[in-house]
Amino acid sequence: MKYSKLFSKTNKTAPADADCINAKYLVQGGFVDQEMAGVYTWLPFGLRVLHKVENIVREEMNVLDAQEIFMPCLQPREYWETTKRWDSVDILFKIKSQTEKDYALGATHEEVVTPLAQKFIQSYKDLPFATYQINTKFRDELRAKSGVLRGREFRMKDMYSFHTNLEDLNEFYARALQSYLKVFSRCGLQVKAVEASGGIFTQNQSHEFQALTSAGEDLIIACEKCEFGQNSEVATLNEGDKCPKCGGVLNKVKGIEVGNIFNLGTKYTDAFDVNFTDENGEQKKVLMGCYGIGTSRLVGAIVETFSDDKGIIWPKSVAPFQIHLVSLGSKDATVVEQVNSTASSLHDELESAGIEVLWDDRSDISAGAKFADVDLIGIPLRLVVSEKTLRENSVEWKERNSAEAKLILSVDVIESIKSFLRS
Ligand code: ATP
Ligand code: MG
Repeated sequence: MKYSKLFSKTNKTAPADADCINAKYLVQGGFVDQEMAGVYTWLPFGLRVLHKVENIVREEMNVLDAQEIFMPCLQPREYWETTKRWDSVDILFKIKSQTEKDYALGATHEEVVTPLAQKFIQSYKDLPFATYQINTKFRDELRAKSGVLRGREFRMKDMYSFHTNLEDLNEFYARALQSYLKVFSRCGLQVKAVEASGGIFTQNQSHEFQALTSAGEDLIIACEKCEFGQNSEVATLNEGDKCPKCGGVLNKVKGIEVGNIFNLGTKYTDAFDVNFTDENGEQKKVLMGCYGIGTSRLVGAIVETFSDDKGIIWPKSVAPFQIHLVSLGSKDATVVEQVNSTASSLHDELESAGIEVLWDDRSDISAGAKFADVDLIGIPLRLVVSEKTLRENSVEWKERNSAEAKLILSVDVIESIKSFLRS
């Protein structure tokens, strides 16, 4: 992609009201635009990152054999009355139609997925199954804050599983927990599965997934060795104690909740009266689990974790592009032409090799300003074509997380990039 064709731009100055790193760099780097508090447009760069994160989530949910669907955000009041949540869930956005009908905007989707599943469940032969979606959620958060970490409109992957018995539900729950850890580690994050209870959507066992970063709003007691953690509000263990799982030392750390899983038991199937006929012809209640990942919050948590004073440092797996190619100007028009044609063929060659490249081809921007943008945007590898590199039949190679720049022979560039991206 050519930078000169982008309609969205980076900003020289950070937004005045930015209260944390992601609010600052995601806006400044042209990843998102704030429409109002807690509501964002995802611009081309940001949407590429969000899609990468969501595809990692999608791949891991598919490994669990969960089937992807897409549910409505406009939900009838009656469903929320059925679960007695119309009046009790304070963050529910409620709207009225011109014929005075009441609707909720989806804050979560148990009210849609449970009656949906009911239509397809008759006997034990129809169970178990799991289904998920990646969709927008609406929550009337009193205080939207911390950039994309706490929005009023945000993205979530929510999965729901349906079972005949607790053993089967527990087995799926344990596999989902492992899939979650895989998702977060593929995003480059260090995440603890924290035993949790309480909260508006829970009944039985649940785990929160906490990404460890100083920007987190939750305090947790976490093992320095394994994935174990406890929320400090409910913790039975203290800092300095031994981890009950592996014997490692427990520390008090801050985390961002990037996911949450619940054993719902029969809470929603009782409300909607969802039954199945077992092997003996008896009617029984279906058991449910639900499993959420805040995909837009996850993008914010990645930025909070990977940045420096110049900008973002994306992990390769979720970077908006893999290569940031920069062509530099010259006073000599022939040199400019040579630099541009070399950069242009490299850009085309990379694209046809399936490598995602952003080419800063702008002619009226100084080298310093282009390099500042490279650091702000945070793509893992910067390649420079200039009068100097042409003389050496090379391109300049600099990784975002290293200070060192070196020359690589032009003939070796594609192979070097491929091995860099594999590493
Ligand atoms: P929190 O404790 O942060 O308020 P929650 O426990 O209410 O979140 P869930 O209902 O379990 O959240 O939603 C699943 C996931 O969706 C959360 O783990 C989080 O990553 C994300 N999420 C929840 N609320 C928001 C929000 N307002 N903005 C962005 N992401 C959110
Ligand atoms: Mg929570």
